[in-house]
Amino acid sequence: VVTIGVLALQGDVREHISALEHSGATAMPVRRPGELDAVDGLVIPGGESTTIDKLTRIFELADPLKKRIEAGMPVYGSCAGMIMLAQEIADPATDLKGEPQQTLGGLDITVRRNAFGRQRESFETDLDFRGLEFSAPSPDQNPAPVHAVFIRAPWVERVGEGVEVLATVEPSEASRTATLRGTARIVAVRSRHLLATSFHPEVTGERRIHELFIRIVRGEA
Ligand code: GLN
Repeated sequence: VVTIGVLALQGDVREHISALEHSGATAMPVRRPGELDAVDGLVIPGGESTTIDKLTRIFELADPLKKRIEAGMPVYGSCAGMIMLAQEIADPATDLKGEPQQTLGGLDITVRRNAFGRQRESFETDLDFRGLEFSAPSPDQNPAPVHAVFIRAPWVERVGEGVEVLATVEPSEASRTATLRGTARIVAVRSRHLLATSFHPEVTGERRIHELFIRIVRGEA
């Protein structure tokens, strides 16, 4: 059984722990460098990326996290977690001193924060998601779509070499949101040991994204 940590500085930690445990992993919150040493993989939850950034630095987790990511530890980032894994933010927030927010990086993508509109314009949609073939009812059938909840979500504006696009929101699906203008938007990516989604699978009872991540941690996907 693999042990997967959930970065527990801010955000919806409990939901990820529950999703991981229901999917066959041992899950534990990670708040200290010593706890990080004990896990085989890590989930960075949704929340507020500026806060998670500040807290990882205050709790002296930022450098150990960067080192583990560089050393190949699998990490799944959801929403704010996707932002934390991104090499670049198109529109980083700045704090009172004018310092731009930082990310851990590792995933060669550029994200735009709050790209789909503000909280009240959050939306839900069904997505075709690559990599979930293991969940198909039979080998000649497609896996069921993923019901995705977007909450002040980022989208991916650029993917670097080796970054695989796993899901996009089609313009027809999201044309209700003013900022989408006829372009499909990338909302899930993978690059080797790093997985990221703009949306929150942990709030809908969807388990397959966590199952995919557990397979990545086990070296099976
Ligand atoms: N808008 C948030 C941020 O920029 C992310 C929202 C979320 O994680 N649901 O960090």
